[in-house]
Amino acid sequence: MILPATVVSSGEDTSVEKVLFSGDKPGYFEAVRSRFRDGWSSICLSSQSGCGLACTFCATGAVGLVRNLDAEEILAQALYAPWQRDRAFPVKSIAFMGMGEPLANPRIFTALDMLTDPQVGGWSPRRITVSTVGFAPRLAQLVAQHPHVTITLSVHSPFPDQRSVLIPLQKRFPLEASVDILDRHVAATRRRVFLAYLLIDGVNDSAEHAEHLARLVKHRSRPDLFKISVIAYNEAAGVTAPYRRPATRTVQEFVARLRSAGVAVSRRQQFGTGIDAACGQLHADYLNARDAPHTPPTPRTAATGGDTP
Ligand code: SF4
Repeated sequence: MILPATVVSSGEDTSVEKVLFSGDKPGYFEAVRSRFRDGWSSICLSSQSGCGLACTFCATGAVGLVRNLDAEEILAQALYAPWQRDRAFPVKSIAFMGMGEPLANPRIFTALDMLTDPQVGGWSPRRITVSTVGFAPRLAQLVAQHPHVTITLSVHSPFPDQRSVLIPLQKRFPLEASVDILDRHVAATRRRVFLAYLLIDGVNDSAEHAEHLARLVKHRSRPDLFKISVIAYNEAAGVTAPYRRPATRTVQEFVARLRSAGVAVSRRQQFGTGIDAACGQLHADYLNARDAPHTPPTPRTAATGGDTP
């Protein structure tokens, strides 16, 4: 059984709200809904309570892994009644960009079966995005079992040594292994995939980074089916590395460099930074949840109108 617990924050005139869930097992997990003015909404689901992969820019990684969520707990976030009842903003898309690495949780496959089952969730797989830092064996399983799901692979650095610092999983599953899987996938399905690039001030925002990132794409068999999403880093509680958000101009220049190198690129808009609901910020307030699993964290409130880098 799962009990949606506390609405953590919803600003008055905001487009983003974050909901804290708890079940009858230890650990909390969060889901975020973004409402868009033209009458639809998108939700961001968690696949784990915490995360054990320890990416150095991520608030969830700073918590450590509490546990994998059950498939029913993942589904329950998507079917959260107040969101389902809101006819003015029907949930048209789902992204696994909440807490946890979805492909580190083998139950993600059952969850995807349920989300796409017409008798259960009923979402088109094309409306579901799985975001991964590159858990290669299960990425291969994902493209085989759910070839129409949209995939986002986090790159964050084209250089293996630096990427190992940002994403320690790189040492186990190098970026190239995941990109090769996606290369074969796009050639077979002609479905576009996305490479996320978290831009951190003075860390991975140089011309050399842009050049090597563009090269990574251009060496693919179908470079036209790879699109880079550049995301400005959000400062996140619990992260001890001295990372800073880049200036708007830095983001613009990085995007321009990629574009002039001939690769498809966009800047991903960030919503929810004011309530710690944007990329990499989830679970920032719940560092003690693992030790006191049934003591609800203190709800926060904050108005947010979204954030455009
Ligand atoms: S970025 Fe994703 S995989 Fe890395 S620590 Fe955070 S939740 Fe885990």
